[in-house]
Amino acid sequence: MSERGASSGPSCPSCEEPLDRDRLADGPQLCARCGTSFQAACFHPVVRRAALREGRLSSGDDSRTPSRERDYLGLAWLFAVAGILLCPVGVLGGVLCAYCSFRALRQMREWGDAGGRLRVAAALAAGLLSFALGLLGAARFLR
Ligand SMILES: [Zn+2]
Repeated sequence: MSERGASSGPSCPSCEEPLDRDRLADGPQLCARCGTSFQAACFHPVVRRAALREGRLSSGDDSRTPSRERDYLGLAWLFAVAGILLCPVGVLGGVLCAYCSFRALRQMREWGDAGGRLRVAAALAAGLLSFALGLLGAARFLR
């Protein structure tokens, strides 16, 4: 691929003729304009998830396939940070964070994600901090 920057799509490394991203495949390519042959390596960010979903569908278990996957890890962080920043709701934020953390773990198992458990553990730790701060805030408020 050329070094013309992220704004332009894939192009021929020799003449920089733009390549059709939808028709580009991994492996040897021949430029239609200058005839240069080169190796293409495509980036497929959604293929694995789509393949997993298809596998689930073909196995007949389509009852639990939502139209849109929820980002539980992101939600866990959101609740933890909100709980820490807004101390009075920290207890609630911590509980919601813990719930989302466990949902995120289950989601990772379903998707076959090997990594990412540390990030869930970090979110859960932040949620526990939020919970503790919320309890402290409530105790100080009640005294
Ligand atoms: Zn070319």
